[in-house]
Amino acid sequence: MDFKEKIRVIEDFPEPGVRFKDITTLLKDGKAFRTAIDEIARQLEGKEIDLIVGPEARGFVVGTPLAYALGIGFIPVRKTGKLPGNVVETNYSLEYGKDKLAIHTDAIEPGQKVLIVDDLLATGGTINATLNLVRQLQADVVGAAFVMELTYLNGREKMQGVDVISLLKY
Ligand code: 5GP
Repeated sequence: MDFKEKIRVIEDFPEPGVRFKDITTLLKDGKAFRTAIDEIARQLEGKEIDLIVGPEARGFVVGTPLAYALGIGFIPVRKTGKLPGNVVETNYSLEYGKDKLAIHTDAIEPGQKVLIVDDLLATGGTINATLNLVRQLQADVVGAAFVMELTYLNGREKMQGVDVISLLKY
């Protein structure tokens, strides 16, 4: 399937000069959505994974169906102040500003094998913050998976030592 055809590109969002890759047009196409998740699951075959960790909000949209498909658990990473239990936090800068992310302290046992998932890899800021959180919990990061990757922003280079897969490259 040509997934790129299902992604709508919106010019100048959220600011002038940015060509935003809108995944909502893929999500509303049930066949494309299922095929995309199944294809990521297929590319992960043979990998031992205990848990999927995804940052809000689109990391949930891709990460939870993938966790369901693999029959493993899902751990949410959220903006600070949203999770009800004890958390560890990290500051990060993203393509369009700064923010703070958090994860429940007891979400991952030391040594558990974790796959990090988001819809899109741009500069790598979000995913590196997520990496920082799971490493604070002493997780074993076995890879990162994305639907889309903006290769010209070189996010992958910031993730040395992590096996990265993406379905669509721009
Ligand atoms: P990064 O932190 O790698 O610079 O940016 C990736 C994060 O910002 C992801 O969480 C992603 O959801 C969001 N993001 C940045 N640019 C886009 C875009 O063009 N399309 C979508 N769907 N998300 C984006």
